[in-house]
Amino acid sequence: MNNNIPITIAIDGYSSSGKSSMAKALAKKIGYRYIDSGAMYRAVTLYAMRNNMVTLDHVVDCEALIASLPNIKIDFKVCDDGQHTLLNGEDVECEIRQLDVSNNVSQVAVIPAIRHALVAMQQAFGTEKGIVMDGRDIGTTVFPNAELKIFVNASAETRAMRRHKELIEKGQPSTYEDVLTNVVTRDHIDETREESPLRKADDAILLDNSNMTIDEQDAWLINKYHEAIANLK
Ligand code: C5P
Repeated sequence: MNNNIPITIAIDGYSSSGKSSMAKALAKKIGYRYIDSGAMYRAVTLYAMRNNMVTLDHVVDCEALIASLPNIKIDFKVCDDGQHTLLNGEDVECEIRQLDVSNNVSQVAVIPAIRHALVAMQQAFGTEKGIVMDGRDIGTTVFPNAELKIFVNASAETRAMRRHKELIEKGQPSTYEDVLTNVVTRDHIDETREESPLRKADDAILLDNSNMTIDEQDAWLINKYHEAIANLK
C-alpha cells in the first residue's frame, strides 16, 4: 500500500451532518492537516456582523464586505481541545459557532467575490496535499481532483437534534425548533445559490449516517481512506 503518499480528502455535506467530526477524527488518525472551510465563512460573517454590515433581517452589505476583504485575515491554531479559528489574530472559535452567526453565514456565503477569496485561501492550504477539508464545495470546486471525496447526509431532524445537543453541552442557548429552522434554511440557500452550490460531486461517495454511531462512521471513513490509498496508481 502507498501509505506514505499524501492525498487530498474532500468531505462535503449538509449542515450539521457530522462531517467536521468525521473529518477531524480522520485527519488526527492519519496525521493529516484538517481545515474546516465552514469556519472560514463563519469568521467572515462575524467580521461583517461586528462591522454593521448585516441587518437584523440578514441582508448583507456586499459592497462594504467585499471592500473589507483585504482587512480580513483568517487562520487556525491547534489548541488542547482541538483547532481554533483566528480572525485577525483573535480566537473566535466559540463566537463563530453561535446561532446568530449561523443565521447569517449562508447569506454571506452566496457572495461570489467572498467565495473566490476563500476558495483561493483553501486551495493554498492544500498545495502540499496531506489534507482533509470539509465544507460544501470542496469536492466540486476547491479540490476537484481530490483522491477521496465523501458526501455526507442525514435527515434534517437528525442533524438538528445533534446540533441542538452539541450547543446545549457547550452551554450555549439553543432550542431544537430554532436549530431545525436554521438547518433547513441554510440547506436551501446552500443548494440553490448560483456560485458553487452544495451538491454531491459525481465521483463522491455518498454516506447517510442517520443511523450510524460516531465510531461506526469513523471506521467507515478510515476504510474508504485505505481503499483510496490502495487505488493509487
Ligand atoms: O460547515 P458549517 O455549517 O460551519 O458552514 C457554515 C456555512 O458556510 C454553510 O451553511 C454554508 O453556507 C457556508 N459554507 C460554504 N462553503 C463551504 C463551507 C461552508 O458555502 N465550503
